[in-house]
Amino acid sequence: PPRSEVTYFGAGPGPLPTDVLEDAAQALLNFNDTGLGLAEHSHRSALATKIINDAKADLSSFLDIPDNYEIIFLQGGGSGEFSAMAYNFAGAWVARKHKELGSNDSSIQELKSAVQDLRMDYIITGGWSQKAAAEAERLFGPEHVHIAADSRKTNNGKFGTIPDETTWDLSRDSAMVYLCDNETVHGVEFPRFPKCLEPRPDGGPIVVADMSSNILSRRIPIQNYAAIFFGAQKNLGCAGITVAVIKKDFLPQPSATLMRQLGLPIPPRIFEFETIAKNNSLYNTLSIFDVYIAGQVLRRLLLQHPDKVRGQEAASEQKAQLIYKTLEEYPGVYHVIPDKSVRSRMNICFNITGGDAAEEEFLKQGIACGLTGLKGHRDLRGIRLIDLSDIIYTWGFGWYLAWLAAGKRRNV
Ligand code: PLP
Repeated sequence: PPRSEVTYFGAGPGPLPTDVLEDAAQALLNFNDTGLGLAEHSHRSALATKIINDAKADLSSFLDIPDNYEIIFLQGGGSGEFSAMAYNFAGAWVARKHKELGSNDSSIQELKSAVQDLRMDYIITGGWSQKAAAEAERLFGPEHVHIAADSRKTNNGKFGTIPDETTWDLSRDSAMVYLCDNETVHGVEFPRFPKCLEPRPDGGPIVVADMSSNILSRRIPIQNYAAIFFGAQKNLGCAGITVAVIKKDFLPQPSATLMRQLGLPIPPRIFEFETIAKNNSLYNTLSIFDVYIAGQVLRRLLLQHPDKVRGQEAASEQKAQLIYKTLEEYPGVYHVIPDKSVRSRMNICFNITGGDAAEEEFLKQGIACGLTGLKGHRDLRGIRLIDLSDIIYTWGFGWYLAWLAAGKRRNV
């Protein structure tokens, strides 16, 4: 079918604005009348640097990112950041302790014993934060990873809630508190920044968040975070680059020799934020084409929303409410999986009464209407809508839900 007749709600890169892709197709053949396609130009060229700098400036403008944060583009996806965040924040913790204790022989001994208390706290609310914690444990060992909260413990072994933050067991001096702001598989989103993680006068807590699937959709109290990250492929562009935004205070890393002396792992250079930042994301070859796509998406968002992310926040809220309201109107037919207090605005997960057979039928009829990519994640099943890209499509989908539900009720 032609592109205009298909609405794709699925995981993966997902739909990009058609005009961005049309411009990109031209850019691949002949970028800015240079006679060479963008993917053929050197990443060291002036035009590549301009693309990087413009994308950084537009991201800062759209999200209100202050100057004391560094924006870097990396490879390795969201999963690469699970490792990178653990490496860089454990490193930043060691660098701080090392500075406090000094560099003579006895202080190295003190540092060695301090390292026994190195902890990274994880708040587990779904499959992605669980994977991030597992990766930190694989790299650093379980003694350095502390699960401060896990929603399965208070929800019959299942995800779908966020434990009351007064019950979180946070470490006193953790290298970071890690959370996933929007759990894509389980449809769970933090409704707001947790009160217990608000900044203290001593500089803690050091909060790191995975925002892969809700970036650009709502305001971020960025000063409350030491770092956020997101793969470009969901809301920003196509697969191939990951963005990390890090408070500059946390960039300095200890030497590889010191980390080895302390028995701690050393990150591959390409995951060392300090090195990537010093090289304006060009320590090694970066896909400039992917940065260009992200930049074009940001340009259009800035043109579309004079009030920047606030405009996008209002639109996301409106679209999500429309779908949840429709689902709730047919309680005998649809069942939203996560708890109402933590429902994601970005990916809506629900079941249909009648189990697998009813869901298969829903998917089949959806495809016949041009509504594709609705199958839930293989771990959770059910139905999942990821990309509510346009209010018109959202209306269309809401109408489809209502139409199917009405038919089902008649059949009953
Ligand atoms: N974090 C979240 C919230 C995700 O949704 C995903 C992928 O869907 C990832 C991390 C992993 O990203 P990647 O596939 O780029 O490693």
